[in-house]
Amino acid sequence: CCRPEAGNIAMIGVLGLQGDFEAHGKKLEQAGSDTQIVKKPEQLDLLDGLIIPGGESTTLIKLMDLYEFWEPLRTFAVQGKPILGTCAGMILLAREVLNPSQKSLGLIDVAVERNSYGRQRESFEATGRFIAKGHATELEMIFIRAPRIHRLGTGVDALAFYEDDCVLARQGHILVASFHPELTGNLSVHRYFLDMTL
Ligand code: GLN
Repeated sequence: CCRPEAGNIAMIGVLGLQGDFEAHGKKLEQAGSDTQIVKKPEQLDLLDGLIIPGGESTTLIKLMDLYEFWEPLRTFAVQGKPILGTCAGMILLAREVLNPSQKSLGLIDVAVERNSYGRQRESFEATGRFIAKGHATELEMIFIRAPRIHRLGTGVDALAFYEDDCVLARQGHILVASFHPELTGNLSVHRYFLDMTL
């Protein structure tokens, strides 16, 4: 029901159906929140924010069907609670999915193309730029068969870039990343997300 009161620690869930949810939990704890792995929709009621991790979006879709997560996740978002989607999580949050087209929550007005980075190489690490509060810093980014953002809607802010591509985008309380911020030593994306829950 409630937002954390000043001084209280936020409780952030990590959707634990498939993929690399454990690494996100560790990062959140390092960034100063409580965390729980979310396996059932009822758990969403207890959370101040949620991370949908990377993995395989087609598998996640099947498991979200099986455990009936679609409507509870939409309700969670309508309540204004922040959601961070990384890689496959971004694909699930996007309004439009290409290569191929598939169903999604449609909570952020971007079009994403699946498996658009690293076709030759499964994964790669690169240095990009993270721009928060008008200040740019370098950020290590790991891409694993990652989706590329092709279109940003008018209400969407670009917060990080790899070469000329936006790889971290925000619309209101929804944040999405093409890369895996949970796999590097840097906490800035998780810290930024925790600030969104305050
Ligand atoms: N290629 C995966 C997909 O399309 C995403 C990969 C990832 O999350 N690391 O769902």
